[in-house]
Amino acid sequence: MASRLPRETAKLSLVGKHSHAVDFIVPEHGANQLEDVTARLPSVLQTTLELEELINLFHGEISKVITFDSLHYQHQGVLSDINTAKRHRHSCSYRLEMNSVWLGEFSLSRSKKFSDDETQLVEDLLCKLIYPLRNCLLYSQSQSLALQDKLTGLNNRAAFDESLKREIGLAQRQHQPLSLVVLDIDHFKSVNDSYGHRAGDIALRTLADSIIDTLRRSDIAFRYGGEEFTLVLSNTDKEAALQVAERVRVAVSQLNCNDGTRTFGFTVSLGIAQLNRGEEASILFDRADRALYQAKKSGRNQTCIDE
Ligand code: GH3
Ligand code: MG
Ligand code: MG
Repeated sequence: MASRLPRETAKLSLVGKHSHAVDFIVPEHGANQLEDVTARLPSVLQTTLELEELINLFHGEISKVITFDSLHYQHQGVLSDINTAKRHRHSCSYRLEMNSVWLGEFSLSRSKKFSDDETQLVEDLLCKLIYPLRNCLLYSQSQSLALQDKLTGLNNRAAFDESLKREIGLAQRQHQPLSLVVLDIDHFKSVNDSYGHRAGDIALRTLADSIIDTLRRSDIAFRYGGEEFTLVLSNTDKEAALQVAERVRVAVSQLNCNDGTRTFGFTVSLGIAQLNRGEEASILFDRADRALYQAKKSGRNQTCIDE
């Protein structure tokens, strides 16, 4: 006889009630439809590593056996907030957790109260979601780590290449302006030489924080490499981009970095280019970089636009 695998348990905490551990094994149900769905669910859910697609697949399957008006799933760690429709009066909500790993909050809602049998069924089906959900979350977390600069926490060069292409595509399709800003710290080598490499790293982190504080939510900032940063400004023409760039430049010039013993400051130069019709990412970047070079040549601590 085959030995049984150790049973793992998922913790489904019914919101508003005590949490309880639930076995992964779903009890037998009479109805054919229900048997079909529960039998098929694991293989259906294994077909994707994309969180949103997983929740959509789960939604499609469970709606065949449970009546509800809306499904909601939220996980703040991966910035996921999926709502299929407006919330209704009655809901059954769960905090999902596995081996102390947070897997998000899930709920179904409708205008009629859920019976005990129905909440039991929701729990049985949720048990089938737990493993695929954990895999999707791990995948999503590794994806975002691969796109993040470790020193500053900003998006990295790989993220920039992807985002710029995507934002250019959107801007071209929607006939909206888009501007790219390239920013470089002035005489950064002398910051390292005077205060040490650690102080240089502190300056890079302080700069990243300042950029984030200064930008709008729709603007995206990247550490392109070394002491060079880029800002992708959607729905922004070059005049508006100049205002953004100048706000960043002035804020940076007023920063005080501290490495524990000394306080020091630095300035940045910035170059701007607005996307031309049909332009490729590499050409747009070259034009913004040329404007940056102009700002350096003209004395640094200033912004130039590629006209
Ligand atoms: P410019 O005004 O012309 O841009 O002069 P610069 O000194 O900033 O430019 P340069 O290219 O000569 O030097 C860039 C310096 O940035 C050299 C390099 O050591 C430093 N740097 C690049 N990445 C890092 C980093 O991650 N940490 C630290 N501390 N320094 C870095
Ligand atoms: Mg520099
Ligand atoms: Mg540089």
